[in-house]
Amino acid sequence: MLGAIEAGGTKFVLAVGPSPHEITVRHTIPTRDPETTLPEAAQWFAAQGTLTALGIGSFGPVELDRASPRWGFITNTPKAGWADCDIAGFFGKALGVPVGFDTDVNAAALAEYRAAAPKGCRSLAYLTIGTGIGGGLVLDGQPVHGIAHPEMGHIFPRRAAETREFAGICPHHGDCLEGLASGPAIIARWGASLSELAPDHPAHGIVADYVAQACHTLFATIAVERVVIGGGVAKTAGLAERIAARTAQLGAGYLPGGTRHRVQSPALGENAGITGAMMLAEALV
Ligand code: ZN
Repeated sequence: MLGAIEAGGTKFVLAVGPSPHEITVRHTIPTRDPETTLPEAAQWFAAQGTLTALGIGSFGPVELDRASPRWGFITNTPKAGWADCDIAGFFGKALGVPVGFDTDVNAAALAEYRAAAPKGCRSLAYLTIGTGIGGGLVLDGQPVHGIAHPEMGHIFPRRAAETREFAGICPHHGDCLEGLASGPAIIARWGASLSELAPDHPAHGIVADYVAQACHTLFATIAVERVVIGGGVAKTAGLAERIAARTAQLGAGYLPGGTRHRVQSPALGENAGITGAMMLAEALV
């Protein structure tokens, strides 16, 4: 039996099952401090029976360098109490199993890639637009890491002159993509979430434009075939269509991938992250 954790800033999703597509039991616990959250999760797994491996898709930043003594750590997160947390080491010790570890978005990208691969897809990026903005990338079946994991939410979109009065809310960069288009950025700017604003409110077009610029950048820099847009903000009615249309407009018919470049919603819906975490476990057995 495989175990999986989708470790998020607000909740931990826990699951067990014989394979990534057969989750037999799942359970959600709120994310508090690590001293409370991690033992509670370990206790739940222990009560499910014996695991052969555990996969963790985690919020970050995390250390993914296998050669580092800090592999499997959540590193310099601003989330109170979680900096320098050895999350993979904790579960490896507590459950006595091998642990697969990656970012939550790389796990989601992996699961979406496997869902799309039978249709011939060989490259896929997953962008989550929610409390934060992050992205994962899978090429030829492998999650891509450079010297660390990508931080796709912290690129700088071009801004229309009339929208520059909003400084953005990223503590590091101000008006990076996350500082402009994440859920908290939208609330800081317009006083409501995107789905609470009327469909003809200019916020929809502005947010879609910023996210579309990220999609275009992924198409233009790595010629990725698909960009999957997940996360809470992405569930706003009409937003996915606006992003896809704006991305096509930005490409202006020039990119050699043409209409093979696609922006789409997650095929696995809410299950992309936890399914991908199961795949990280499966890879170890
Ligand atoms: Zn930033």
